[in-house]
Amino acid sequence: MKNLGQMLVIICMLSGLFACVTSESDTQEMVVPVTSPVVDAVVTPAPVAPSSAAPAVVVLEEVLQLEVIAEPIDTESNTALDTTLAGMTAVTALCEKLGAKLGSVSTQDCLHQQLIHSSVSYTGNSLAYREFPALTDYAPLGRVLVIGGIHGDEFSSVSIVFKWMGALQEHHTGLFHWRFVPVANPDGLLQNVSQRQNSRGVDLNRNFPTANWGADAHRYWVERTGRNPRRDPGEKPGSELEIQWLLEQISSFRPDVIISMHAPYDLVDYDGPPSAPSNFGSLHLRRLGVFPGSLGNYAGLDMKIPVVTVELESAGIMPSPAEINNMWVDLVQWLKGQLG
Ligand SMILES: [Zn+2]
Repeated sequence: MKNLGQMLVIICMLSGLFACVTSESDTQEMVVPVTSPVVDAVVTPAPVAPSSAAPAVVVLEEVLQLEVIAEPIDTESNTALDTTLAGMTAVTALCEKLGAKLGSVSTQDCLHQQLIHSSVSYTGNSLAYREFPALTDYAPLGRVLVIGGIHGDEFSSVSIVFKWMGALQEHHTGLFHWRFVPVANPDGLLQNVSQRQNSRGVDLNRNFPTANWGADAHRYWVERTGRNPRRDPGEKPGSELEIQWLLEQISSFRPDVIISMHAPYDLVDYDGPPSAPSNFGSLHLRRLGVFPGSLGNYAGLDMKIPVVTVELESAGIMPSPAEINNMWVDLVQWLKGQLG
């Protein structure tokens, strides 16, 4: 096997032809089929308690240990909201573009998240995040950073992050302190024909300043990918605005675990200290190896922050509501084991 790309294509072929087609073409399919609201699928109702309802701390010990079983979050407590006019305008513009691009995320779904405008991309799109903070009653088990859409043509990796944020919007219990970056590469996603790279043609997931970047990133790109433009690592480590912003997110939030959403290789990959999850829903652990400049290499291996890379089955078609639910349950259970 001369290069990893070929290997991945073969893995992909074995796991589903459609996924392969979407992975190797810059698919122009922009609309993800609309699914039913994820909250219906994600929330497994807690057993109906008698009139003396169990306190939240007891509920958390129940079998499924869901993050989605207590009273809605008091959004008034989110004091970090950027309520400046410029911030609101930037987020509104981002949400309007996302609503027009993604079939599973409406403009209202996006606006409902009250994303915090934090910086801007090369073409002026908002780089924004949503925080589900610690609640006052007890300390969270840990901080979890969830990143979607670092590759702009992996639509489902953005949509599923909005589905999970929608569930937490209604049912955050404070079990974990979450930060979500639903669209890490808005320029790649939101141009007319979405592309993997950012607007400067750089594969953002090869631009992280890994320890081996200088020695390996360009050599790998030339020798192993044949200068595939979809894998271009950029001119320098951390050269891209989006990566510089993500590095700020990591240094300011100090996550205990990072979840990075991708498609369409239909697996879970893991970098960092033990122990890896065996599966999220129907996606099973399969190690892809280490790429210079990748988030898994930078955070997982260099910084020792566990990084779970989730490769959904399809870039253009969302998992079923049941699968979205199963993945979430497995994710929360694994986080409890990792951080509890
Ligand atoms: Zn990807």
